[in-house]
Amino acid sequence: MDPAPAFVETDRGDVACTCGCGRRWLVSRGEARHDGQAAAVVAMPTIHGADRVWWMAIEVAPGAWACTRTWRDGAHVTAVVVDGERTPVTELPGFAAGAATVRGREEIVADPAAKARLFGFHDQVLRHHPDVRHLFDREHGRDFSFKLPDCVFALPADQRSPRNQENFAELDDRVFVRALVPVALADGEELRIGVWVEVTREAFFALLRVFWDDEAAYAAMRLTGTIESSLTLAGHDTRGAAVTLKARDPSQCLFVAESATPWLAELLRTCLSVATLPDLLADIRRALGRHAA
Ligand SMILES: [Zn+2]
Repeated sequence: MDPAPAFVETDRGDVACTCGCGRRWLVSRGEARHDGQAAAVVAMPTIHGADRVWWMAIEVAPGAWACTRTWRDGAHVTAVVVDGERTPVTELPGFAAGAATVRGREEIVADPAAKARLFGFHDQVLRHHPDVRHLFDREHGRDFSFKLPDCVFALPADQRSPRNQENFAELDDRVFVRALVPVALADGEELRIGVWVEVTREAFFALLRVFWDDEAAYAAMRLTGTIESSLTLAGHDTRGAAVTLKARDPSQCLFVAESATPWLAELLRTCLSVATLPDLLADIRRALGRHAA
């Protein structure tokens, strides 16, 4: 048994897409282990609409790299070896300077041992890299949610209202709705965190009247309230932040559209580098972990 981890990320940064789309891609460098051997890896996930590709360069022998292109093909993840000029990884400074030799596709494909070694490392990265999931599992990789408002969760389960459900909750006279805080990311996607917002009873019941069967009225609704979920975002506690909620379209749940709390208003306007994601995700998971008990 090999006690060393299958993949260790040693550096994260991001780089502007060279196509001019304005997105910035994660550049993750690290080391993969397979069969008792280690290899340096550079990974660069890119997203252009439905085209979601995980590019990698793997050092298959000292100073010699091979490049792969990995994407989702229906229910399967498919990977192929590509020539150096067919991947954006080789446009990164280390490769562009010519310090690294990139082996051609034909050379790797014609060498079964090299190919097996390459995909051994490749699969380890895909299995263990922290950023893989969102690329191949669009619905869930960057979505998080608190199941209940903090003040409701603080009560023993048998003292909570039986009417609490996925998007609505109550505690005595207080009422809460669930809404998503969208955090824009530089790769063009967004991270969404479901938080609970205390609203007036009047707004709550107006929302309930239209939520299930009056799409136009639901889409036109604006609710204001105060976040009742504690989470550290951009160094601040979300709890107590003043927010305005609205649906982006009638089929979706409510989003936090604006905030009268300056730091949150700023966050809603900002686009975060994907290089900062691990710290943000750690804060989110820590906060959600409180509710897992
Ligand atoms: Zn682009």
